Order: sequence, then C-alpha cells, then structure tokens
Amino acid sequence: MIRLEEFTECGSHQKGHFLLSSGLHSGDYMQCALFLARPERAERAGRLLAKALTDAGINPDVIVAPAMGGLIIGHEVARAMGRPSIFTERVEQEMVLRRGFAVAEKQSIVVIEDVVTTGKSTREVVAVLQAQGARVLAVGSIVNRSEKPNPFGDLPFRSLLSLDFPTWMPEECPLCADQTPIAKPGSRPVV
Ligand code: ZN
Repeated sequence: MIRLEEFTECGSHQKGHFLLSSGLHSGDYMQCALFLARPERAERAGRLLAKALTDAGINPDVIVAPAMGGLIIGHEVARAMGRPSIFTERVEQEMVLRRGFAVAEKQSIVVIEDVVTTGKSTREVVAVLQAQGARVLAVGSIVNRSEKPNPFGDLPFRSLLSLDFPTWMPEECPLCADQTPIAKPGSRPVV
C-alpha cells in the first residue's frame, strides 16, 4: 500500500487551514494530481491497486475510469492488468461514456478512481455501465476518504490508503478560533 508520507513529500497532502469545496474547514488537504505527476509513482500505484484487486479474485475485461481525475490511475491499473481502459466524463451534469467508447453487454468491469469521498460520482459511473448491460465487479481507488471501509455496499472496494482527516463547520473550527489564516487549496509546489 502507500503511506501518507509519500503524498506529503510531493505536496499532494498539505497541512494548514483549508476551505474545502464542501464549505467545511480542515487542517489537511489531499489531492492526487501531484503524486501522479511522476510516472513512476503512478505506475507503482496502478500495480498495487491491480494486485489488490486480482488478489481478491477480481479479473475484469475492461477498466473504466472517470475523466479527469481517474485518467492516469485508470490507465496504470489497465497496464498492470493487461486490459484496455476507457473513460467516462460529466457532460451537463450527466455522467456518460466519453465519445468513441462503448461497453458490451455482460462485459466485466472495474471502476477506478483517484479519490473516493462520498462515492456519489462513482455510483453514477457504475449506473451508466450497468444501464448498458455491463457487469461491474468492483471499485478501486488510490485514496479512500469516505470514512467507511466500503461506501459501495455489496460492490467490492479496494484502496491503497484510507484517510480520516477531521473537518469542521466554520463556526466550530479550532483553526479559525486560533485565527490561523485560511487558504483555498491549490498552492503550486514544483514537481
Ligand atoms: Zn477554520
């Protein structure tokens, strides 16, 4: 699996005082893009995730990942499994397969994400695939921020790192109480 320190060292995990897109405050910010900016890290994460899935007996025909966040890790899991990867995207609020891609009826699929938070958008990807008759076997992600072992119920789920960072309503935020300046995430460390 992957240690949190590996994300911290490359700036993918930052400590401070952050306003999250949900409106909540947190002392930690996490996004995978800087981690995946190094192909050797992306390749290793893909290999580890592929192994976690195959060790669980999950052997899909195709990897599906949502663009943009899932593109790189979806590609790397597909490489490690020797399978093709195809992608979904959100068009006018609606999750769809990207133009040119299709799934066949009964094709078996694993959905790969960079980060699972609530799991809502992943469930939309699963629904798109199931509506076309495909069989979704499992979901995999680099990071699990759902605060649950598996936010997908009966659908098997594997991740490389589970995080449980505290978040607060602004009026209950201890960092606000300390008058720590707040930042929107996204400073730009050099890769
Ligand atoms: Zn705060």
